[in-house]
Amino acid sequence: MSTTLSTENRIRKMRLRLRRVAPFFGAPALRLKLVESPRCKTAATDGIHLLYAPAYIDKLTDDELVGLIAHEVGHIIRRHHLRQGSRPIKPWNYTCDGAIDHDLKDVGFTVPDSFADIPELAWMHGLTSEVIYDRMQKQREQQRQKKQQQQKGSGAGSGGDGDEAPDPDDSDDEPDDGDDNAAEPDDGAQRRPGKAKSKPQPSADSYDDLPDRGGQVLPYPGTPERGETEVRTMIAEAILMQERHNQQKGTTPGWFSAYVTAQREANIPWIEHLRRFIAPVYPTDTTWRRPARRHAHAGLYLPSTLRTGCGEGIIFLDTSGSMGGVLARALAEINRLFEDVRPVRVHLIQCDARVQDVHTYEEGEPLDTRIKGLGGSDFRPAFAALAEMDANPEWGIVLSDMQIDFPPGGPDFPVIAFSFTSTPGPDWAQNHKVIL
Ligand SMILES: [Zn+2]
Repeated sequence: MSTTLSTENRIRKMRLRLRRVAPFFGAPALRLKLVESPRCKTAATDGIHLLYAPAYIDKLTDDELVGLIAHEVGHIIRRHHLRQGSRPIKPWNYTCDGAIDHDLKDVGFTVPDSFADIPELAWMHGLTSEVIYDRMQKQREQQRQKKQQQQKGSGAGSGGDGDEAPDPDDSDDEPDDGDDNAAEPDDGAQRRPGKAKSKPQPSADSYDDLPDRGGQVLPYPGTPERGETEVRTMIAEAILMQERHNQQKGTTPGWFSAYVTAQREANIPWIEHLRRFIAPVYPTDTTWRRPARRHAHAGLYLPSTLRTGCGEGIIFLDTSGSMGGVLARALAEINRLFEDVRPVRVHLIQCDARVQDVHTYEEGEPLDTRIKGLGGSDFRPAFAALAEMDANPEWGIVLSDMQIDFPPGGPDFPVIAFSFTSTPGPDWAQNHKVIL
């Protein structure tokens, strides 16, 4: 197609403009390989490529194209390509866009078809994809039940207005009003949800009613570890570029400094926060200040692992439904804690709205990675259970998306809380974010 070259050139040009204006978004954008893809109807990224359809790009103004590129970078910075889990691609995209677009609008980008311009979606502002996804599923289930009740009430006759009826027998090919391409998958990565699953689960509908979105996110094609490393490197570089840019310009836009600071905080491995947190609990232990032998040859001065462990602690793991997407990561981090900090004894409480599991690990015991829960959200039973336990923790860790109830007062030992969303933990804990 003769437009291909000019479309690609135009994307390159707008990418450079993005780097000039906001290197925090522009630097990561420059790493993406541009690929014109027939399986992509709009634009999409998997963390490595920027796939695009010339027909879609050509319709955008320059400002919209810059906003679209920033939007795709937004997916990568937030690790959306690494966090999809078993969720179907279309609602995952929808919820991820809800998480990105409001922020981009706040900082002045013009994003095509921005969710931030839809007042009914204002509730998504400041929430992460997992939380948005969870709430959206609940909303859809409620709507579905309401519709079923209405249908029952008005007799069994169907064929009403057909607005968005998620009829279980109606497999697909029933696009919504005005949505000319809803019956077709967005891209090659899309699975067809719907008919294969016969259980009436909230996620069992076909999502054909959801509008197709402009800038999509696809699953990362490599290993999660590799993807995670790439994102960290990318963010670190982006922060550096933005800070240099701010210095040269002599002015730091207010929003940007707050945004970048938040990103920097989120980019610090949580284990570093944990070390700093646990160190004062064990002030006499000097092993933190000695270089680790395995790094000494490289001239690196890093705190070494505590030789004799760091006492007895307790971990409160939120296993409520909204944590579903990040629990694997939370468990990986707990495992790292076991290996890196080597506590003498750890009590791990898994709690959704009830205490689902309590397991005491002695030093060196491998972590049981089975998750118990995925129900409601109430952490108070976990803290109540503590009184009944044969435990003397000297420190506590909370891992949660903070969409859960906490007791008003904390326990009598220091607690560090890691949030997987932008919502901070209880005010009686030292709070950090794991992912923005
Ligand atoms: Zn998107």
